[in-house]
Amino acid sequence: MEAVRMIEPGRPLELQKIPIPSAGEGDVLVRVRAAGICHSDVHYRAGRSIMGMMPITLGHEVAGEVEWVGPEVNTIKAGERVCVHYNISCEECYHCKTGREQFCTTVKMIGHHIDGGYAEYIAVPARNAIPLPEEISFEEGATLMCASATALHALRRGRVKDGETVAIFGVGGLGMSAIQLAKALGAVEVYAVDIKLDKLELASEYGAIPINASRVDPLEEIRKLTKGKGVNVAVEMIGLQRTMKQTIESLSVLGRAVIVGLSQTPFEINPYQTLIGYEAEIIGSNDHLLQELPLLIDMAQQKILDTSRVVSQRIPLDAEKINQRLDDLENYTDDVRAVIVQEG
Ligand SMILES: [Zn+2]
Ligand SMILES: [Zn+2]
Repeated sequence: MEAVRMIEPGRPLELQKIPIPSAGEGDVLVRVRAAGICHSDVHYRAGRSIMGMMPITLGHEVAGEVEWVGPEVNTIKAGERVCVHYNISCEECYHCKTGREQFCTTVKMIGHHIDGGYAEYIAVPARNAIPLPEEISFEEGATLMCASATALHALRRGRVKDGETVAIFGVGGLGMSAIQLAKALGAVEVYAVDIKLDKLELASEYGAIPINASRVDPLEEIRKLTKGKGVNVAVEMIGLQRTMKQTIESLSVLGRAVIVGLSQTPFEINPYQTLIGYEAEIIGSNDHLLQELPLLIDMAQQKILDTSRVVSQRIPLDAEKINQRLDDLENYTDDVRAVIVQEG
């Protein structure tokens, strides 16, 4: 089969002919129909992350059709449409047994530690293949597996409840899903904080109240709009010190700040003013869980979550086009989401 692979860190990906992966007794072989090109793939290609093997096929946002199932598999049949949960966990360790499989001590991520979906086929354990209803395209199914799933997990970590207010700092791919999911979880008002006009416009089409942080102080604006109370839940999806601080400072009494944006840079807050005086919480959120994916797909099927407009470019399984797309992401010349599509 053909696969677009990373041969060496810092070099363009290359198209290679490799054997179709052999699926084990409890595995399924999936004919890949869509594979999302994610910002993480840019970091992988550049060598900024340790890969599990080399060469390796990238691609962790995958949807397709089941081609073959192992003899032990009775949950899924050949021909079914599925999307793929990218973390393959052991099911044996403490974290797996307590429902926190993203911390599995031997977790392997497809397209990072083992071969992923920039290929014609991928083999995964049957439990990692989640049924994808007809109403959801393969492209949308693929992108649900990363940004949307991570947004849902963050809101669940923030325990968003009926009637609460939510602020999302940074409305890129994650944020657009977070707005819709927060509403689905019962939020009455969702504030979208960003500095890009086009993003703020799309955010308001999804039902958020836009706050342009390049024109107003987002903290003052949130206090004003919530009649001085602040928001119940604020989610940081950028990874900047300034916005992390703002996320915490925008909270109401008993508010929860969820930090999703990646950063290793320390920042300061006033503990009395922001935490103790409000009994506020700062919560980290990392990745997502297999058990959250059926709920996410359900929301997409019911059109509560619409990511169809997030996918704006479809490209074939072609090394040159994929590298070009990764270059664009590396240079931030472009914000649109591209998906590698292989027609049936
Ligand atoms: Zn991704
Ligand atoms: Zn485990």
